[in-house]
Amino acid sequence: TTLLEINHVSKQFGNDTKALSDISFSVNEGEFVSIIGPSGAGKSTLLRCINRMIDASNGEIIFDNSNVLNLKKKQLKMVRTKIGMIFQHYNLVNRLSVIENTLHGNLGKKSTLAGVLGLYSQEEKEQAVEILSVLGLQEHMYKRADQLSGGQKQRVGIARALIQNPRMMLCDEPIASLDPNSAKVIMDHLQNISSKMGITVLVNLHQVDVALKYSDKIIGINSGQVVYNGSPNNITKED
Ligand code: ADP
Ligand code: ADP
Repeated sequence: TTLLEINHVSKQFGNDTKALSDISFSVNEGEFVSIIGPSGAGKSTLLRCINRMIDASNGEIIFDNSNVLNLKKKQLKMVRTKIGMIFQHYNLVNRLSVIENTLHGNLGKKSTLAGVLGLYSQEEKEQAVEILSVLGLQEHMYKRADQLSGGQKQRVGIARALIQNPRMMLCDEPIASLDPNSAKVIMDHLQNISSKMGITVLVNLHQVDVALKYSDKIIGINSGQVVYNGSPNNITKED
């Protein structure tokens, strides 16, 4: 079944930058889909349109049967909890610990940052510990985020997304700042998230070889247009 459907989406910045023009494709429940394309192709703009960090200029974005472009503030907030975001630069709060970052995500309770752990129930904390263990971070739970390697930081990013119990993960260049070994660890975790947890993964990558290795489906984007939509097995050099 289809979880996400992008229909004729365009995005114009100002008068002359057409970042996306007439993008259409769909993503199935549990599928691992990579969006590939050169720098400036529009990959990041597309992901930001999907969770409405920015507004598409035209088209429809149907997620879980509702058009996110029409959602009012409250409904949008609900939908966003179902979409976990992963960023190239992790976007952690440096002076919080790993477990605090996990619990107190971007969508977390509003408060001062002091005493974050006190805001959460025992059950929520246990869930965080469980997710951090799956990601191999149990030994680092009480370290500050800025004490971690890049690969560790990105695993915290994944933990913070997973604790929302999302239907889909949107990952914007999750391995672009990592060495190849750390990148493999992250990609393997994302693969498990899709294949074992059944969470849909939509990931922007500029490394074509990595995309080919992990994806069920590849969306190739160039100059804001879809130039490939299909299996990683049928892709050719010309694509
Ligand atoms: P990619 O993620 O594939 O590298 P982007 O989505 O970041 O590509 O960018 C696509 C195009 O949109 C580029 O030409 C970029 O300069 C432009 N763009 C992206 N964000 C903005 C913005 N906030 N304002 C104006 N132009 C933008
Ligand atoms: P990665 O393994 O993701 O490439 P780095 O190259 O950034 O990460 O880090 C390599 C090692 O340096 C890691 O083991 C990490 O624990 C340590 N490290 C990185 N940044 C810091 C920091 N700010 N403070 C302490 N140790 C750090």
